[in-house]
Amino acid sequence: MAEMQHVAIVGGGATGAALAYFLSLREVKVTILEAKTDVGFGVSKANSGIVHGGFHLPVSTLEGKLELQGNQAFKKLAQELHFPYNRCGIIMAAFSQEELAIVEGFYRRGVENRVPGMEWCSPERLRELEPGLADGVLGGLLAPDGGVVEPYGYVFSLCSQARRNGAEILTDFRVEKARFADGKWHISASDGRSCTADYVVNAAGLYADKVSAVFGGESFSILPRKGDEYLLDKTVPYRPGHVIFPVPTEHSKGVLVIPTAGGTTMVGPTARMTEDKEDTSTTAQDREEIFKIAQKMIPAVSQRDIIASFCGLRPVLQNWTGKFMLQISAKAPALIQAAGIQSPGLTASPAIAEYLIGLLEKAGLNAPCKKEVAPLPEYAKPLREMTPEEADLKFQEDPAWTKIVCRCEMVSEAEIVRAVRMGHTTLDGVKFFTRAGMGRCQAGFCTARILQIIARETGKTVQEITKRGGASRITAENEVAK
Ligand SMILES: Cc1cc2nc3c(=O)[nH]c(=O)nc-3n(C[C@H](O)[C@H](O)[C@H](O)COP(=O)(O)OP(=O)(O)OC[C@H]3O[C@@H](n4cnc5c(N)ncnc54)[C@H](O)[C@@H]3O)c2cc1C
Repeated sequence: MAEMQHVAIVGGGATGAALAYFLSLREVKVTILEAKTDVGFGVSKANSGIVHGGFHLPVSTLEGKLELQGNQAFKKLAQELHFPYNRCGIIMAAFSQEELAIVEGFYRRGVENRVPGMEWCSPERLRELEPGLADGVLGGLLAPDGGVVEPYGYVFSLCSQARRNGAEILTDFRVEKARFADGKWHISASDGRSCTADYVVNAAGLYADKVSAVFGGESFSILPRKGDEYLLDKTVPYRPGHVIFPVPTEHSKGVLVIPTAGGTTMVGPTARMTEDKEDTSTTAQDREEIFKIAQKMIPAVSQRDIIASFCGLRPVLQNWTGKFMLQISAKAPALIQAAGIQSPGLTASPAIAEYLIGLLEKAGLNAPCKKEVAPLPEYAKPLREMTPEEADLKFQEDPAWTKIVCRCEMVSEAEIVRAVRMGHTTLDGVKFFTRAGMGRCQAGFCTARILQIIARETGKTVQEITKRGGASRITAENEVAK
């Protein structure tokens, strides 16, 4: 029997994870090579988490087509893999005659794109859908298939099911060198580990330009476009039921008010170019600007309710028409480029994965569908969603369910232990897997307890545990007793 071909994916974000998952349903060996300590810690962890509606771009563009296809794939994927997703619908509202004409244009585009259920809404209809909209709304569109997803939950689910189907995920594996010899790529990481593969997909986000250079691929440059976002407390006076969009700006979809899949409200993002790929600072000036725009749509949104802020960096290809670069490299053998995956990259990721599989096949990959794949996972219901009866059963099964570690998000010790045993061994990994530390106190009360549990489960000392890998240590001395 011929040996199975091997695809190495550089980058374990939404693009790499979706590709690994769909490839894992086929007869092919798959390995994700991820520089960070966990998957999903790149651009895919810091974004608006919106499954866009498919009306922003014409479907004649690659990005428009993949956005719409991706949007339609999410419902089934979420049902199968159980990541937090809410098909809450998207509203784009107009507050002036000029805006009304623009929003009407997006509505017509949605209809031309055949976006399911596109609806033009009168001011009365909009108020019925979203009573908190500001006075003076003149009309708008509703795209009912738009929604929200917890982006890290999505990436974790894809990766863990890919793993169940045999995919390998190598973390802390920063691809540094590669050479093509005897028909294979020989890839080395900065720590000396290595991997060989028949095909490589460059899905390295902000660093796809550097990774392309490592493989002798196309020469291009990626610069970040910053997006500041503000998370509000779960108990805000008004939480919208839909994602509320303004009229887009030249470079972004504008400042949105988002009912997140995790139950909070989020406001943002900005769109500001920078040269620094690690600059995730936020500014008071941008915060003022964000809230001014958001309050124009939903007056109840208030800076008083902020519990956290963060900044995401969109990987923007320079001197490139369109957004995404999805192609077989013309310079390096057996290399596929998946670069410049800025918004709507999260939405489009299931469709990008299928598109990349098409490119791999064009490049020679032979990967028929598997006859048998791993069963789909069962839903691991979090404690905060359980009825008292369900919780009682869990308490009897394992007393660790009775020990509440994160009080804001109601996360038990049993859930933290499960996260660590599934490979999430940093504070952020546990946070993104369980939501422990994401609530109002922002981990003020639970950090010490979570560190103790990670230490106990991994056999590490508390000082060895990091926030998100690398040098991000949390304690200098053994301040938290083991
Ligand atoms: C503020 C903001 C808001 C956004 N909102 C939305 C939205 O609402 N909806 C939407 O659809 N899209 C949105 N996006 C876009 C979306 O987040 C991205 O398109 C998507 O996350 C890109 O995923 P990726 O896997 O391509 O990149 P990443 O998630 O960055 O993954 C790339 C991975 O490659 C790894 N890597 C880099 N170099 C190496 C190396 N040398 N060796 C090994 N690994 C390496 C990185 O560590 C990283 O984990 C938003 C983006 C931003 C910044």
